[in-house]
Amino acid sequence: TVGAVACDINGNLAAGTSTGGMTNKRFARIGDSPVIGAGTYANNKTCAVSCTGHGEYFLRAVVSHDISCLMEYKGLSLQEACNVVIKDKLVKLGGEGGVIAVDALGNYQFCFNSAGMYRAMRNSEGREEIAYY
Ligand code: ASP
Repeated sequence: TVGAVACDINGNLAAGTSTGGMTNKRFARIGDSPVIGAGTYANNKTCAVSCTGHGEYFLRAVVSHDISCLMEYKGLSLQEACNVVIKDKLVKLGGEGGVIAVDALGNYQFCFNSAGMYRAMRNSEGREEIAYY
């Protein structure tokens, strides 16, 4: 996956996700990445989310929209919402992977239940502030 989430100076949020899918995937499999609300979602009221991992589970759990809903309707912070969905709900389903996410204040989260997840953050000047490879 190559995913990105962004927050502009006015708090507008955007998310995008690109993927080659899973190794040995079935012909015509689409996965979660292009499905808005599953692998990719942005809502100015809550957050922008991009997912990576076993798409079947991310589709079933509607991961990115669920994170947004927990913030909008339950008042959870971005960090709390990501943790509930990735480290609890998704684990219970047997799904492995993670998300990058940002809220309208520019708070960002890297949250995953897999062994690792390549990730980085760039500041408003485009400089890399943090990266894990
Ligand atoms: N989530 C993608 C899929 O299931 C795989 C990935 O790129 O992480 O198609």
